[in-house]
Amino acid sequence: MLEASHRYFHQAADVLDLSPKVREVLLTPNRVIKVDIVEEADDGQLMHYTGFRVQHNSARGPCKGGLRYHPTMDEDHASALANLMTWKTAIVDVPFGGAKGGIDCDPSQMSRFELERVTRRFVDQCKEVIGPTIDIPAPDVNTNADVMAWIMDEYSRYAGFSPGVVTGKPLHLFGSEGRDEATGRGVMYALEEALRDCGKDLAGTTVALQGFGNVGSHAARMIAERGGKIVAVADHMGGVANEAGLDVPSLVDYAAEHRTVAGFSGGDAIEGASIITWPADVLIPAALEDAIDAKNAGEVQAKIIVEAANAPTTPEADAILKQKDVLIVPDILANAGGVTVSYFEWAQNIQQFRWELDRVNAELEKRMRRAYQSVREIAEAKNTDLRTAAFVLAIQRVGRAALSRRAVRETIDFG
Ligand code: NAD
Repeated sequence: MLEASHRYFHQAADVLDLSPKVREVLLTPNRVIKVDIVEEADDGQLMHYTGFRVQHNSARGPCKGGLRYHPTMDEDHASALANLMTWKTAIVDVPFGGAKGGIDCDPSQMSRFELERVTRRFVDQCKEVIGPTIDIPAPDVNTNADVMAWIMDEYSRYAGFSPGVVTGKPLHLFGSEGRDEATGRGVMYALEEALRDCGKDLAGTTVALQGFGNVGSHAARMIAERGGKIVAVADHMGGVANEAGLDVPSLVDYAAEHRTVAGFSGGDAIEGASIITWPADVLIPAALEDAIDAKNAGEVQAKIIVEAANAPTTPEADAILKQKDVLIVPDILANAGGVTVSYFEWAQNIQQFRWELDRVNAELEKRMRRAYQSVREIAEAKNTDLRTAAFVLAIQRVGRAALSRRAVRETIDFG
């Protein structure tokens, strides 16, 4: 996975004609942390997991990135995703660097109390190297506001009252209005911008969606509210389709109760894997990485892909889709709404001041649209796809900051 994210980086670094030395400075992580987490399970057996945190780059501010609880979590995933966070925070111009981490556990097999103990142990092992000015975790796959509250509580035992150590906290515990739905809302803005580029709008646009968790469900709800038609949704258990458009609020209620969209009666059951090639104007992968690969990319029918998930498209698939003239809004732009509102949450925590929802949403919309337009201008100027342009913008911002913070022997032009 890290190799794939490096490949995208090098495509943009080639456009900027960067030297191998500068590339190495920008790709090398600041710090890689790996900890053993040994805790007692509810039945008295030992649980033994490994926790990871990779702090990739802090040139533009404290490291920032999610915590993922998933059996596939490992150093390669954490490194690749931390890397993406560095570029993402730069694209929406928030004063953070990039980090990512997680634990290789499966929360669906754990009680709430086991999850809390494992989370607290992880914080205890990392407490010296996280903090409001060092590294600020946030929710990702299988982590949520409850997990963030436990992190804040555990860290505050060590450092004193510190709401700014994590974002994505519950609203009643110094979270921000609008954070829960921020990534999905940002995805919707990114889609609106992409449609505008194609001379279209959301009304009547058909959408197939993979993943119906935090990001996917909020994105679906907002797209449907604005006239888009969600015609198929799939998750890890299966999927459901309805040509006339799924009733998204009912699907949200169903998924909250059953923890899957499979079995929803408002459409026909479909096989989960078929979602990637489903006939729709737009495909939104909002689950895990590598969903679109060399095997299924050729069969993709959508003309626009908005990457709500991180790294859902392999470089091989990306090349195939480019040949098919599919417009891809890359992850580091499309799903940057979450980290943008995380920044607002962190700023509110530091100022001990609360913003109202209207202000959060208005600032998010402004930053997402501005980011999209900046990326599109670079794509036009340098004659590249949006992904390469997004990396170019990010490398320019991170590169200038990184190399202003140290004396260098050569003059580097970031274009
Ligand atoms: P989540 O845990 O809330 O939901 C994940 C969804 O993916 C679930 O519906 C699950 O069933 C589905 N899924 C898992 N494995 C699958 C599979 N093999 N096939 C089909 N569906 C599968 O996670 P989330 O927070 O919504 O994150 C989704 C993606 O968005 C991840 O790539 C994450 O890194 C990215 N992301 C999340 C945020 C955020 O704020 N939560 C921000 C930026 C990016």
